[in-house]
Amino acid sequence: MSYYSPSIEKLIQSFEKLPSIGNKTAARLAFYILNASEEETNEFVSSIINAKKNLKYCSQCYNISDNDPCTICANPKRDHSQICVVEDVRDIIAMERTHEFKGVYHVLHGSISPMNGIGPEDIKIKELLSRLMDGQVKEIILATNPRVEGEATAMYLSKLIKPLGIKVTRIAHGIPVGGDLEYTDEITLTKALEGRREL
Ligand SMILES: [Zn+2]
Repeated sequence: MSYYSPSIEKLIQSFEKLPSIGNKTAARLAFYILNASEEETNEFVSSIINAKKNLKYCSQCYNISDNDPCTICANPKRDHSQICVVEDVRDIIAMERTHEFKGVYHVLHGSISPMNGIGPEDIKIKELLSRLMDGQVKEIILATNPRVEGEATAMYLSKLIKPLGIKVTRIAHGIPVGGDLEYTDEITLTKALEGRREL
């Protein structure tokens, strides 16, 4: 049974649903909110509501953005002949932090994982292929995570894209196997990008 009143218990439960938040942290956050000023609380709540309301997927790269197309796709200075394929929106942030990549992105929103029942049709692969049809794209850089699923996805895409006459490269290892692009430091990621090899 809970020692908290139902309203507090509900708030704690909401925080507990967030990633990496355990029961103790959830309780601490709930009490922080309870003690915060009304202005602070309103700002917090409206920032969540606005983010949910305003953010959309870029219809070209499937990045999450306030605008469609996103600022990267809309930027004429970016090299639109080079597409870096990543699993997650947060991987774009990781790549952008390196300041090395001048091309554009494509977010798959996942990776092929037969174990979890995720097939090629469940991620943004056909959307990627349709971007390749106008002949503008010269290179696809596969920057999926160096895990089993990420490697399998890279191989699958390579087999699909190479026959189109487009250069397909895979970022070099140096990123720890089983690691996450999101948590890879800029130097390692820059080296991985520089050392990419053709598939
Ligand atoms: Zn975009």
